[in-house]
Amino acid sequence: MSALEIEVFSCRSDNYGVLVHDPDTGLTASIDAPEEAPILAAAERRGWKITHIFTTHHHIDHVEANLALKEKFGLEIIGPVNEALAIPGLDRTVADGDEFTFGEHLVRVIETPGHTAGHICYHFPDDKILFAADTLFALGCGRLLERTPTDMWHSLQKLAVLPDETAIYFGHEYTLSNARFALTIDPDNERLKTRAAQVEADRAEGKFTIPTMMSLEKETNPFLRPSDPAIRRNLLMEGKTNEEVFAEIRKRKDNF
Ligand SMILES: [Zn+2]
Repeated sequence: MSALEIEVFSCRSDNYGVLVHDPDTGLTASIDAPEEAPILAAAERRGWKITHIFTTHHHIDHVEANLALKEKFGLEIIGPVNEALAIPGLDRTVADGDEFTFGEHLVRVIETPGHTAGHICYHFPDDKILFAADTLFALGCGRLLERTPTDMWHSLQKLAVLPDETAIYFGHEYTLSNARFALTIDPDNERLKTRAAQVEADRAEGKFTIPTMMSLEKETNPFLRPSDPAIRRNLLMEGKTNEEVFAEIRKRKDNF
C-alpha cells in the first residue's frame, strides 16, 4: 500500500483547501470544498481527478463548491449525519465511530460537536493523519457557534487521545493570531515561545503553518492544556475544573 499524497493550498481569504490522493487506486478526496477555482487548479496541477468530497460541517466556506465539483466530476459527497440537510449534494452520511475505506486506507469518523452541532473529523489511523477542519487549529480551536464549551472540551479530548505523531490538517490559517493569544495564557512555556517566534517568521514569509503535529499541540496549544498548573496559576483558576478553565480560555480568545 503506497502512502497517501496530500496537496494543500489556500482558498477564500484564510481557508485551506486539501486534496488527498491514493496513488494505488487513483482516488482523490477534497477535504471540504471551500472554493471551486483553487480546488480545480490544485487537481490540475497534480493531474488528479476528484472522486470524493469529505465534508466536515455545513458552513458555507466549507461546502460552497460542492455542487459545482459534483457536476464536473460526478463525485461522491460524504458528510455528517447531524448536518445532512444543510450540506448541498450530500450522497452518504456518516456518524461517530463509522469506518470506511479510501482505497485500502482506513478512515474513521470522529464527531466533534462544538464549532457546529454536527461537526466531524476524518481520521486515517494507519496513515496517522487527522483532518480536523474547524475543531482543532494550530495553537487554537474553533469558535463555539452551536454548542457549549463543555461539548467542545469533550470533543477535543477525543482528538487528544490520538497518537502524538498524528499529522493534523485544519481548516483555516489563524496560526499567527492564535500564537499571540496563546502567549497571553501560557507566557512562560518555552516550547510555545519558540514556536510562536517560528510562526511569526513563517507567516512574514507567507509560509503555510499546516499541517501541525499532535505532540506539538499538546505541548503548546492552550485549548488542550487547561490542566497545566502554570496556566491555571496565570488565570487564577487553580481550584477549577478543566472544563471551566477551557471555557475561560475560549472566552478570552473571543475577546482577544
Ligand atoms: Zn466553520
